[in-house]
Amino acid sequence: MDKDLLIRNLRNIPDFPIPGIQFKDVSTLFKNPECLRQMSEEISRIYRDKSITKVVGIESRGFVMGAIVADRLGAGFVMCRKPGKLPGESRRQTYGKEYGEDAIEIHTDALNPDDIVLIQDDLLATGGSAKAAIDLVRSFGVKKIYCNFIIELRIEGLKGREFIGDSAEISTLLTIDE
Ligand code: AMP
Repeated sequence: MDKDLLIRNLRNIPDFPIPGIQFKDVSTLFKNPECLRQMSEEISRIYRDKSITKVVGIESRGFVMGAIVADRLGAGFVMCRKPGKLPGESRRQTYGKEYGEDAIEIHTDALNPDDIVLIQDDLLATGGSAKAAIDLVRSFGVKKIYCNFIIELRIEGLKGREFIGDSAEISTLLTIDE
């Protein structure tokens, strides 16, 4: 995987969605065929020998790479969605954000104790949303949980990796510290 190619194609949007945030816009990586291929190949290479049975994508940018990698690994794909979006019976996990609470949901029949799960999202910042996804997936009694992010953001004291700790085994494709 050519990290420089990915870095060159990643778009930074200052002050989105609120002033002071440097938004790392992965849509410019998804729209580039070579970046899309290299990212999915790299994630699939990392998890090739891990016997992954389900890839859980976190809404919404985790759906893109998650689904491609699930197909490459011969695994199923599960959507982890914002509250009220899933039509079937769902299990919910709430988590604290900087201001207030948020929640995520997974269908109750989406995972089972035999599963080995890879959770995928575009970016790791504080780790709050990923940790909620890990806790939710763990509540199904699955055998093992891995986590992959395209970007690990290490700016302004962000310590997502430490926040997740040993609750899941993490890999990231790019570390960004500016
Ligand atoms: P966190 O829960 O703090 O780790 O935030 C991760 C989630 O928020 C991911 O789903 C990201 O898509 C999104 N996110 C947080 N910060 C940024 C950022 N600077 N640029 C792009 N997405 C971000």
